[in-house]
Amino acid sequence: MSWDFETPSEFQAELDWVDRFVREEVEPLDHLVRHAWDVRDPVRNALIKPLQQQVRDRGLWACHLGPELGGQGYGQVKLALLNEILGRTHCGQVVFGAQAPDSGNSEILAHYGTPELKERYLAPLLSGEIVSAYSMTEPQGGSDPTAIMTRAVLDGDEWVIDGEKWFSSHASFASFQIVLAVTDPQAAPHERTSMFVVPADAPGIEIVRDVNVWGHDEEQASHAYVRFRSVRIPRDHLLGERGRGFAVAQTRLGGAGSTMRCARWAWSGRAWT
Ligand SMILES: Cc1cc2nc3c(=O)[nH]c(=O)nc-3n(C[C@H](O)[C@H](O)[C@H](O)COP(=O)(O)OP(=O)(O)OC[C@H]3O[C@@H](n4cnc5c(N)ncnc54)[C@H](O)[C@@H]3O)c2cc1C
Repeated sequence: MSWDFETPSEFQAELDWVDRFVREEVEPLDHLVRHAWDVRDPVRNALIKPLQQQVRDRGLWACHLGPELGGQGYGQVKLALLNEILGRTHCGQVVFGAQAPDSGNSEILAHYGTPELKERYLAPLLSGEIVSAYSMTEPQGGSDPTAIMTRAVLDGDEWVIDGEKWFSSHASFASFQIVLAVTDPQAAPHERTSMFVVPADAPGIEIVRDVNVWGHDEEQASHAYVRFRSVRIPRDHLLGERGRGFAVAQTRLGGAGSTMRCARWAWSGRAWT
């Protein structure tokens, strides 16, 4: 039996366009843009937005999403080949609407968000107007999420969140965070947590500091240590069912979240999360 690993010629043509575009248009921006996720930076916006439009015109915007959300619905192989090229640069993921953690967060919102949450958070996220953060890891538990201690308690029509998260990439730039917290401490270990949308302007959120990894310079430090002190969010900001936080997390930690991060990292080791 023969097994063909060739890239289809029409997709190879797209990859060749991406390769040239990244080399000629995106790589130079890495020297000019302080942080590609910082949507508040006018220099970043002036340089990146026109390139994002070129990517949209080419039909390559947010390819991890299905056509109903404006993407191409590419499978894992095509996404891996594409992300291998984008991983050469700091700005590439953002120029192509493929950046972590927004790619995975948009999948969670698409699957589990109410129509109101989709309108308020998913639509501007997909159009590149805002960025988001994902807050799961805690100082005492990263690899083992059953060690998570952040609590969310229902008080009338609001959830009240208390706890600490770290490595919340880009929380300092984010309009909202997606947060995993314990809601049912007496349940079985994998049924204790639930997932929430937490608006960045909710009182009680403190960015303790932005952490620097992999030799990035101090200015680019963007993996935040975040503290939640009695942060109140509306009851309907729960994503999916109560107690199903781990299942919701898998929506983002699978395809777009982790596999594509590895593809970007495989190339250069400088793919930002
Ligand atoms: C650049 C960067 C960006 C990140 N962005 C985010 C983000 O946006 N949001 C977020 O929530 N998290 C983020 N993370 C956190 C990441 O998910 C955690 O670092 C990861 O889950 C590992 O957790 P830890 O660092 O606490 O390591 P630990 O859990 O302390 O693990 C340390 C080592 O011990 C091993 N180990 C742990 N437990 C066991 C065990 N029971 N048996 C055997 N070996 C074990 C691990 O494999 C590892 O080698 C980011 C991390 C980095 C480096």
